[in-house]
Amino acid sequence: MSEFDLGTFEKEAHERWTRAFESNPSDREKFYITVAFPYPSGAMHVGHGRTYIAPDVIARFWRMRGKQVLFPMAFHVTGAPVVGISKRIARNDPKTIHLYRDLYKVPQDVLAEFTDPLTIVKHFAAEYQRVMTSCGLSIDWRRRFITVDPTYSKFVEWQWKHLYEAGHVIKGAHPVRYCTVDDNPVGDHDLLEGDKAEVIKFTLVMFHYGDALIPTATLRPETIHGVTNLWANPNVTYVRALIDGKPWIVSKEAAEKLVLQDHRVEVKEEIPGKALIDKTVTHPLCGTVPILPADFVDPDMATGMVMSVPAHAPFDYIALRDLQQQGKYITIKPIPLIKVEGYGEVPAQDAVERAGIKHQMDSRMDALTQEIYSAEFSKGKLFEKYGGKPVRVAREDVAQEMCEKFGSVVMYEFDQRPVICRCGNKVRVKILHDQWFLKYSDPAWKEQAGAHINEMSLVPPEVRAEFDRTVGWLKDWACTRRVGLGTRFPWDPAQLIEPLSDSTVYMAYYTIAHKVREIDPKLLTPAVFDYIFLGKKSPDLPEKKKLDAMREEFLYWYPYNYRFSAKDLISNHLTFQIFHHVTIFPKDKLPKGMVVFGMGLLNGAKMSSSKGNVFLLEDAVSEFGADTVRMFLTGSAEPWQDFDWRNELVLSTKKQIERFYSTVMEIKDISGEPQDIDRWLISRLQEHIAKATAALENFQTRQALQEASFGIETDLKWYRRRLPENCDGSRELAALCSAWTRLLAPFIPFTAEHLWKEQGNKDLISFAEWPVADEKLVNTRIELAEELLTRTVEDIESIKKLIQITPKSITIVLAPEWKHEVFKTIAKSSDRTTVLKEIMKDESMKKRGKEATDAAKQCTTLIHRLPPHVVAPLAQESMNERAIFEAAQAFLEHEFCVPVHIADAESSGHVKGATALPFKPAIVIE
Ligand SMILES: [Zn+2]
Repeated sequence: MSEFDLGTFEKEAHERWTRAFESNPSDREKFYITVAFPYPSGAMHVGHGRTYIAPDVIARFWRMRGKQVLFPMAFHVTGAPVVGISKRIARNDPKTIHLYRDLYKVPQDVLAEFTDPLTIVKHFAAEYQRVMTSCGLSIDWRRRFITVDPTYSKFVEWQWKHLYEAGHVIKGAHPVRYCTVDDNPVGDHDLLEGDKAEVIKFTLVMFHYGDALIPTATLRPETIHGVTNLWANPNVTYVRALIDGKPWIVSKEAAEKLVLQDHRVEVKEEIPGKALIDKTVTHPLCGTVPILPADFVDPDMATGMVMSVPAHAPFDYIALRDLQQQGKYITIKPIPLIKVEGYGEVPAQDAVERAGIKHQMDSRMDALTQEIYSAEFSKGKLFEKYGGKPVRVAREDVAQEMCEKFGSVVMYEFDQRPVICRCGNKVRVKILHDQWFLKYSDPAWKEQAGAHINEMSLVPPEVRAEFDRTVGWLKDWACTRRVGLGTRFPWDPAQLIEPLSDSTVYMAYYTIAHKVREIDPKLLTPAVFDYIFLGKKSPDLPEKKKLDAMREEFLYWYPYNYRFSAKDLISNHLTFQIFHHVTIFPKDKLPKGMVVFGMGLLNGAKMSSSKGNVFLLEDAVSEFGADTVRMFLTGSAEPWQDFDWRNELVLSTKKQIERFYSTVMEIKDISGEPQDIDRWLISRLQEHIAKATAALENFQTRQALQEASFGIETDLKWYRRRLPENCDGSRELAALCSAWTRLLAPFIPFTAEHLWKEQGNKDLISFAEWPVADEKLVNTRIELAEELLTRTVEDIESIKKLIQITPKSITIVLAPEWKHEVFKTIAKSSDRTTVLKEIMKDESMKKRGKEATDAAKQCTTLIHRLPPHVVAPLAQESMNERAIFEAAQAFLEHEFCVPVHIADAESSGHVKGATALPFKPAIVIE
């Protein structure tokens, strides 16, 4: 018998699978799945692994179900990150070198060539393909491309021509995240930190300070009436600068930021923060107030100066209280100006005291600030002397008044910090002019995309709300960049189409990827793609025969059935692709469904390449075997749940595969005559097949494995226990092995291929027919009898443990016939509260008196405890329990090594006999 050796199985299967998963249009029904293609700039970790392995399980399942399955893969190499990486490698940045040399294990001579960004992506694309193949992904690699292939760029140009003609591409000024080192807008993919940060519009309130202005940024201009002071940080360097010709005093950082936001900035002199403390400023709406010292003022937040409204801002309230507790500035009192239900006169004081907050550093401060902000915005009203308007109205009015009369301007800033570019530089907000945008804010486009998402199948269904939110919230998207790899923007060739905008309809490109590259890219005009994808005929199309073949591929495969991706892509890619599809493709070619994945954890912590908290997929495959990695990643959680990689759990998965392997090897050739228990085993198998199939149809890989692995393993254990002595089973086991191996083939294809061959099959299991549950083989009575026996064995075992004597004999006392009648009546009744009265109306029951009411109550309790699949058949017909136990007598005596008697409650005379119930005999151990 061949040894369990995953390495050998992998080698065998790889040889037999060469080109096996190349998929062409056929007479069969197609099933086309795609996964968001990876950006190959580092090594794959086990978190990436699941993103591709779970779809592969689904692909393999449907292939065995007889569908023509297409599972393609390509590599996304567009964008700036890789340019940043190559620059950092060129200047020998130690952190980058460490990451690529030590963690990603790039050989020194290859690393030396990483100063060319294209080399990096080509290297990792090849690595990714190698690792994906080692995991057993059943990909049609003929269709592989990278997003800077000239042919692909022609396809992207065609896509953008349609977006442009539909009016979705516009040019304008816009605040964007910007890296001044790269001199480029920064996308989500380009960030080391702060990918959730949003650009917020602040109003600058201009305070007069001598001949200069001190601007403070606020989201709540209406609170100007409650300003008691400004805060400045005494440890920070401020500058006096001419901003658009007027002197301002702001932090050094702020002066740099204002340059990016359309201001002329001329720094004149530096001013230490200390020099500002205790000076005064004035504003027409709040009069003269002092500047107080505060360490919490961040020079990198807006202007680095803050206006203080202690009555309505918890931070300001506490900062002032702290100073006053040191005996300073005790004459300053909070000035309330907003009335809001649920709070006293000074809401900030109220909230801080209620929460028992002692100091500024309390972690609840942000939540408290948010709470007051929301309460005042939704329910607050300004005091009569300030106009009496609701806060939400007053805010707009005061902002407008300040801009018109008091010199206020707008400043953009992030709502959280830090925001760090992959190059290590701090990201700033820049107003870009002549920037190209995709107009996702267009209500008509939103409507069109939203309507299609409503018709799509989304897994799990909970993600629908998040898609709806994203469609509603999406703003215009800066879609071009100045630096990086990618396709030139057709209307401004100095710019490139950014990564999230050139990867939205490439699922259609896969259908032709292997054929389109036979045509000279120069010939690939928009008219060519219009013909392939839209069927639009035009004169003088080149290579008509090849185009027809491609059109045929597209018509056969498209639209895709399901797209798989992680949940953090809902807010961009997964939604963008629908916007683009609805613009370009006809209704019958629009995507059908999406499956959204949870995240990966490593020993309980979030996996992150940049933080080094990852387990590389390749290391996992060589240490545990590809099948183990596959089974763990798809079996420890459903795809949309988060999974947690822990080596000890992965090891136990490997043992599980080994048990499966050795069990099949032991039993596959047994040829004995079938016993009763074989009928039970085969009946149970039908249910596991049906449930595993239903689970995979719903993408529930974990549920399917529960049935296909643990479920069958547990049954077999019981089956082998139940076999008579000197019998190792029957020829039914061969049928079970065949079905069992096929059920597990999508999950552990390497082991399955090997076992399939061992079972005498010449063809690949990857294309074998998926098992079908045969209802004729389901035998409920036998299953019920076996369940009665298992439960009784469990009862005997637990009683043995309780009484702690060495038993001399065991008696199973069976319930009398009348209790079966009581059981049936209760099980059948829909109202189990009134059924007792019904039973006691019967004369024979009346005569039994208390004995009958007790039995009815016990039956009711038992019926509640038993699973419905037991109660339902017993409600129709009681079982011949005596026959079941008599048939199992030898088994029971063998199990417990004592004589086993079977007795009737009423004739046996055992006291415990009174407790015997249907499906729950009394047990007497002596
Ligand atoms: Zn940068």
